[in-house]
Amino acid sequence: MYSMKCSDYCKFEQGQLTRYGKIELSPSAGVLNYGQGLFEGLKAYKKEDGQLLLFRPDQNAIRMAIGAKRMCMPCPSIDQFIDAVKKTALANKRWVPPPGKGSLYIRPLLMGSGAILALAPAPEYTFLVFASPVGNYFREGLAPLNVYVEDEFHRATPGGAGGVKTISNYAPVLKALSRAKIRGFSDVLYLDSVNKKNLEEVSSCNIFIVKGNVISTPATNGTILEGITRKSIIEIAQDHGFQVEERAVPIDELFDADEVFCTGTAVGIASVGSITYRDKRIEYKRGAESVCGELHSALVGIQRGIIEDKKGWTVEIH
Ligand SMILES: *Cc1c(COP(=O)(O)O)cnc(C)c1O
Repeated sequence: MYSMKCSDYCKFEQGQLTRYGKIELSPSAGVLNYGQGLFEGLKAYKKEDGQLLLFRPDQNAIRMAIGAKRMCMPCPSIDQFIDAVKKTALANKRWVPPPGKGSLYIRPLLMGSGAILALAPAPEYTFLVFASPVGNYFREGLAPLNVYVEDEFHRATPGGAGGVKTISNYAPVLKALSRAKIRGFSDVLYLDSVNKKNLEEVSSCNIFIVKGNVISTPATNGTILEGITRKSIIEIAQDHGFQVEERAVPIDELFDADEVFCTGTAVGIASVGSITYRDKRIEYKRGAESVCGELHSALVGIQRGIIEDKKGWTVEIH
């Protein structure tokens, strides 16, 4: 793992790789007491020639910098972030699964590690990057997702921090998520907390609905995490001739959509097989012939270095 520190709002100093292991924190660290922390997630893929490919790491760096402003934290520069990610991926090269068998999930963390008892930004910050090999995110593998629409618990509210990847957004959804899993669902779809009417997103991925040639996804307005996969799929879908609309998507549109799919680094792009809202269950088209299948091949092809990357999204590291 890679770590670097910064105290008294100075710049982050040169970091270093160390063996993966426990870290020491003061019991009064800002992150432990007040949740002053951000995370990121990206993947490294092994190509047939053994080289590693990262997918749009600059976008993760930029997103962390935006989140850091929201959470009153200093942040590594874009170059420092990318350098740390590259070093971590290379140091863990032997753990990257072979082509097609999975990827190395890389987890950057930024936290208020300094001691602070008063409610205020911490006096010291730690940036860490660690990694783990992963296969498919969902237990069912490539099986479609069965999603439950949650209308009691909300993930984010206007003016809150739902639009940034702060660690404090995630523990509050565990209740809805574990309740849905006990009932046999794969994940939860959240509605907007004001009207309980428009789609927001799934616990850790963005949502799209397909109707004919039109693909719609909720517009990002501060309560939805701006996924890098979401952004990439919007561009790929436009290149493939679809009309993409970013707008408010009322729940009613789920009833006559042809397809629904989710996007995120962990899941990639995954078909939703069914959505359950109150006591109604709606089923959707999926499989290789689906729009999701078409976009999946295009995205995965670029990420794994199988299709030529004309967009400059992938970064080869050695
Ligand atoms: C990380 C995340 C996503 C997906 O973002 P990607 O950049 O595509 O991985 C979507 N929603 C939430 C809540 C997230 O935390």
